[in-house]
Amino acid sequence: MLYDVVIVGGSYAGVSAGLQLARARRKVLVVDAGLRRNRFARHSHGFLGQDGRDPADIAHDAQTQLRRYPTVDWLNGEATDASPCADGFAVTLSDARQYLGKRLILATGVVDQLPAIDGLAQQWGVNVFHCPYCHGYELGGGPIGVLATSELAMHHALMLPDWGATILFLNAAFEPDANQLASLKARGVRLERERVTAVGGQGADVTLASGRVVELKGLFTQPRIRMASPLAERLGCVFEEGPMGPFIKVDAQRATSVPGVFACGDAAIAAGNVAIAVGDGARTGGAVHASMMFAT
Ligand SMILES: Cc1cc2nc3c(=O)[nH]c(=O)nc-3n(C[C@H](O)[C@H](O)[C@H](O)COP(=O)(O)OP(=O)(O)OC[C@H]3O[C@@H](n4cnc5c(N)ncnc54)[C@H](O)[C@@H]3O)c2cc1C
Repeated sequence: MLYDVVIVGGSYAGVSAGLQLARARRKVLVVDAGLRRNRFARHSHGFLGQDGRDPADIAHDAQTQLRRYPTVDWLNGEATDASPCADGFAVTLSDARQYLGKRLILATGVVDQLPAIDGLAQQWGVNVFHCPYCHGYELGGGPIGVLATSELAMHHALMLPDWGATILFLNAAFEPDANQLASLKARGVRLERERVTAVGGQGADVTLASGRVVELKGLFTQPRIRMASPLAERLGCVFEEGPMGPFIKVDAQRATSVPGVFACGDAAIAAGNVAIAVGDGARTGGAVHASMMFAT
């Protein structure tokens, strides 16, 4: 079966792209491994009309609505390879089944590489976060911790006082210079230089090398990200370097450097969220449709 479009990744960005294409009566296949980036959180914030809902429910409702369209096929599974072929692209699944699409959309998201600190992974999305807009409001004014993984922590540390009393745990990741110290002081940020040995005895509480425990309402950190899927690299897509890690380079129509391959959502954005992924997906769906109608 030759599809108009194969979409790899059936979360917010991929489903949003698929919706535009399904409504254009195009034949679409969505392949999804079901590992959304925010699957660790029970509440999603900041997405219009869905504020505070379980992110799994938001994704489930969107997928259910998309799958009602008769031109949409859905496969739960992992795409392990994609390569150009005479018809467009051949996408191979982990069980070796192969599907063809005239266009390919990568909506595969990213993976957060968490700092290797005892207990932190268990608190990810519960009491430890990366996005103040997503989870800062609920922390009730703090105290809020920022766990530095690099100098980028300055960004979080200078933002978070708007959400509550802020402590920056340097954890030997960097040492602020005189200007940075002045900026932190002006924002009322407290500095903690002692190494962090554990997170989460109670919620977001941080344990320091001396055994001292700092009680926190929430902790923010900036993990490095990596692509959730090697497909873009395998296809030869060009990447850009963002502050947190690489993302797929796309043009204004969300076309990658490989003709016929488009990308959207976190995989193709320096720093995304659900609202941005949904908007980006809608734009990509329209652009992919246009590329098939107006192709020269
Ligand atoms: C802990 C946490 C909490 C967050 N909270 C919020 C919040 O409150 N509000 C907010 O707006 N944003 C929040 N975010 C950010 C949000 O999760 C992302 O911006 C959003 O999920 C991006 O959507 P996406 O569709 O691009 O990627 P994802 O949602 O990550 O989905 C990518 C999909 O592609 C699939 N996939 C990947 N590779 C393959 C493959 N090879 N084959 C098949 N399928 C594949 C994955 O399994 C997954 O289903 C949070 C993130 C984290 C980590």
